[in-house]
Amino acid sequence: MIVVLEHSIDPEEKRQIVGFLEEKGFRIREIQGEEETILGAVGIIPIDLREVELLPGVARVIPITKPYKLASREFKREDTSIPVGPVKIGGSRITVIAGPCSVESREQIMEIAALVRESGAVILRGGAYKPRSSPYAFQGLGETGLKLLKEAGEANGMPVISEIVSPEHARMFSEYTDILQVGARNMQNFELLKTIGALHKPVLLKRGPAATIQDLLMSAEYLLAHGSEYVMLCERGIRTFETYTRNTLDISAIPVVKKLSHLPILVDPSHGTGIRAKVLPMALAAVAAGADGLVVEVHTDPEHALSDGPQSLYPEQFEKLMRDIHALAPVLSKELSRLPEKLPKISAYSPTISTEQGPILVAFQGEPGAFSENALQRYFPENVGTLPLEHFRDVFDSVLTGKSHYGIIPIENTLTGSIHQNYDLLLQYPDVRIVGEKTIRIIHNLIGLPGATIEDIRRVYSHPQGLSQCARFLDGHPQWEKVPFYDTAGSIAFIAREGKKENAGIASLDAARVNRMNVLKEGIETDSQNYTRFVIIAREELARNEGQSGTANRASLVFSTSNTPGSLFRALQVLAERNINMVKLESRPIAGKPWEEMFYVDVDIPPERGTFQKALEELASVTETLRTLGLYTV
Ligand code: PEP
Ligand code: MN
Repeated sequence: MIVVLEHSIDPEEKRQIVGFLEEKGFRIREIQGEEETILGAVGIIPIDLREVELLPGVARVIPITKPYKLASREFKREDTSIPVGPVKIGGSRITVIAGPCSVESREQIMEIAALVRESGAVILRGGAYKPRSSPYAFQGLGETGLKLLKEAGEANGMPVISEIVSPEHARMFSEYTDILQVGARNMQNFELLKTIGALHKPVLLKRGPAATIQDLLMSAEYLLAHGSEYVMLCERGIRTFETYTRNTLDISAIPVVKKLSHLPILVDPSHGTGIRAKVLPMALAAVAAGADGLVVEVHTDPEHALSDGPQSLYPEQFEKLMRDIHALAPVLSKELSRLPEKLPKISAYSPTISTEQGPILVAFQGEPGAFSENALQRYFPENVGTLPLEHFRDVFDSVLTGKSHYGIIPIENTLTGSIHQNYDLLLQYPDVRIVGEKTIRIIHNLIGLPGATIEDIRRVYSHPQGLSQCARFLDGHPQWEKVPFYDTAGSIAFIAREGKKENAGIASLDAARVNRMNVLKEGIETDSQNYTRFVIIAREELARNEGQSGTANRASLVFSTSNTPGSLFRALQVLAERNINMVKLESRPIAGKPWEEMFYVDVDIPPERGTFQKALEELASVTETLRTLGLYTV
């Protein structure tokens, strides 16, 4: 059962409730949710729920109807996120685990680890104890394999995962791995599950080839009931009458599990299909269906792999898969998990920044729940501090004066074009540079007071962009008054303060959540292809640190040309002759010089740095002014 506690409960009352339930024989798990604190009481013990309901401090009692309790959505409404070293699995992240089926040698695992890391995998896999159908097949390198896996993980800053097949190996796996994998064949090895549960380590539990979704959740329940805090599930294909593929990958298990359970679910398209060429489409399908991540087998020489060569991707195929997921993620309002080194390094230039809120402080314009805040949360790791400010200029000031390490500003929208104010600010603050970028999908929602219905609404507040981007929906309600507001998230804070059921606002789901408001209708934007590109800004010193890393692949430049025929042509020719790809070109009037224009250009930096340097030098000679707004990685 779930015991929801009153907001005002005092610690003594809580102790009394826990004591009462434990005495009856229940195991208790406390969950501090965003909105309420609950106690999960599990055990097969007959009890009249009213006995619990009457205890002081209890708001209500809800029976859990499913046979699995701790794994159920009834037990915990919010998605569980699992921290594994620097990575968080679940929530809005897509986590990719990759590596060979088996660790075969030091050279093999080192080479594959570096390649998959480079393409964006964040966790390294590699089997050391292989449950093979044939006793004559390669059985894995055992403890040596685990040692090599750990070494390769450490060399690349990646947590590692490997399959455990025997309770006897529990201590050894605790020492060498960050996540323990329970293989499909062992999903119902309950003694193994109990032993692993007691280790309190993250576990990846694979669905058995003949297991139902309920069987899978019951096995997860074993782990949770025996102490595991963090369990992730993995769909890896089941046995059906189809023989073309090795297994039938049950994509529908993903939304089903999401409804029944709060646990993250990953998908293994390698074992799910058994055929290399089928891995990419099924991986994309799994991500599109809502999977929290993938487990993919990759090998540099699959023809000679000691296990599962035919289903292992070549590194180039894996790289393509990662690029495709990167493109797909914003459509799903999700983000690929990244390892910290791929993020801009934090410079030590500003000791004045308070690090109380986290190791990095990022300024944004707007109120909590703003789209800018959402974009920064997706760009930076989980534990960054955020600084909401009123104006875009304040964001630049805070970066310049060292009040924050970084700032984030919107720069263009697919429907409404460039945000010129921010382009102008980039020019006005020469000591501030672009160090990164993030594009997010903008989904607008109609948000009202808890208990309000669409019929109650008389007035709708939002930023003018929010109102115009939802024109078709609003046209369906001509009687509503549309009121422009300075900020989307701010409009939700405003209706919350006003407390009138007739007021609604248009903003993000985050804005509804932080203001504890109710979403009346999701996704009301007229055009669903609504994306905003943000750039991350930092002081020049920091930008220079990053430029030195040499990994930047995008440059934002701004230049002006003389008012003579062919001057823009000559500037662009410099790029064209060096085969430098231009991804944006926009002109903007120069303040104080009527009819003279600045040109904003974004280009892909070619792999040979020298070519780009030469192009910049020549560009400087054919333009009147030239500035690099930033070199960064996209
Ligand atoms: C594996 O991940 O290498 C493996 C053996 O998977 P499964 O248990 O899904 O067959
Ligand atoms: Mn395998």
